[in-house]
Amino acid sequence: MLTALLQPLDHLSVLLYEKRDDYTRSRMVQLDPSLVADSVESFRELQSDQDDVEAIFHPLEIQEGVAFRTSIPADLRSLLQQWTLGFSPLNEIEHSLSSLISERQGNSVERLAVKMSEQDIAAAVEPDDIVIDCTGRNSLLRESLTTPGLSSDESQNTVNLELEHSLVITFLYDQSYSCNELCKYYKNSHNRTYKFIPSVARTFSDGNVSHVTGLVNISSEEAATIPQQCDGDWLRANRPEVAKSMDRFIDEIKGETHGEIVGDLNVLSIPLNLYRARNATNRLYLNKNELGYHFRQSPVILAGDSAIGSPYFQSISLGFECAMYLASLIGQPALADGEMLDLYETYIFKQWLRVYMRSKKIKHDKDIFERVDDKIALLELIHLY
Ligand SMILES: Cc1cc2nc3c(=O)[nH]c(=O)nc-3n(C[C@H](O)[C@H](O)[C@H](O)COP(=O)(O)OP(=O)(O)OC[C@H]3O[C@@H](n4cnc5c(N)ncnc54)[C@H](O)[C@@H]3O)c2cc1C
Repeated sequence: MLTALLQPLDHLSVLLYEKRDDYTRSRMVQLDPSLVADSVESFRELQSDQDDVEAIFHPLEIQEGVAFRTSIPADLRSLLQQWTLGFSPLNEIEHSLSSLISERQGNSVERLAVKMSEQDIAAAVEPDDIVIDCTGRNSLLRESLTTPGLSSDESQNTVNLELEHSLVITFLYDQSYSCNELCKYYKNSHNRTYKFIPSVARTFSDGNVSHVTGLVNISSEEAATIPQQCDGDWLRANRPEVAKSMDRFIDEIKGETHGEIVGDLNVLSIPLNLYRARNATNRLYLNKNELGYHFRQSPVILAGDSAIGSPYFQSISLGFECAMYLASLIGQPALADGEMLDLYETYIFKQWLRVYMRSKKIKHDKDIFERVDDKIALLELIHLY
């Protein structure tokens, strides 16, 4: 996304290193419709955490964010519009972006299929280059951006909170279907434990097919006994109590809308982590004489999952917003490197505050939902003053 945003800028060229030959992750992902908001009013209306956004961002920042969205070239904007219609396969997003980049006029982007190390980047970097690490959750450079002068215990650059361990159960359903909180509650009314809490939306390509992603909370001890990936049959044979809860939910959907599941159920067992890089840039090292640091002359910036990661279907949208902001900074050649890094750090910290509050609230609401019929357990979750 960042490459596609930078490509039209005349004053720069992009070298894109990607270790994978092909994009094979077919999991369905959901993007936030506010990525294509075309006015401040529609942006505000589309925020589920509108108060938090207003509390954290200055109105001018919101206006600038919307102005950038409306300036996105039409080819890219129409892809974004398509993906925000509903769940899309991740590799469809990756393939479409790659095709768009290679089919555009001009040759300001060179793509190299190489697995880079920190040393490789240090050797390749030239004066006036900007290094942007988009290597995902296991970021290549995040831990090299520790705060100088702190002990190794204190200086870890990743702040990580494990919110829960979940089974992520996904399937396609051949009917248009939606599910509000009442529906989630009543379809779980016979599930005392292992409630199946779904996110349901149409698929981006076919409004009559719905994609369902259900999260089922499990303990980390249980997680140790379940493979990272399995199907519905494995679950029914090996964890019947979890499978029964899922099947009850599916039977309720079928009873109501008379449809069928298309293809297989996919089950993924993963920790849902919320994390950030304390330093999302090397501004503490830039033009300083820190021994052993490779990039003293060049800005280094973390973007996407390298900088912040969050559960509950938010990360790609955060990454895309972060790419938009970064492209708007890089699009101002008069901005000094130090100033650009300061602005980016402030922005990333604001995004972190926002996603931290939103994720904690979703987790809290999920905890309440799991115990809603048990008054004492419920009260234990609630702290008033
Ligand atoms: C089950 C599941 C469901 C999800 N659903 C959603 C959802 O609905 N909505 C949502 O917003 N998010 C969702 N996410 C999260 C989302 O997939 C990630 O946030 C997103 O893929 C991160 O994008 P990224 O580009 O930052 O990193 P990645 O997608 O991880 O891309 C990093 C890229 O860097 C390359 N790379 C890594 N190291 C090197 C190296 N050393 N040299 C060269 N190349 C390298 C990799 O090959 C890869 O292509 C989900 C995640 C999971 C696990």
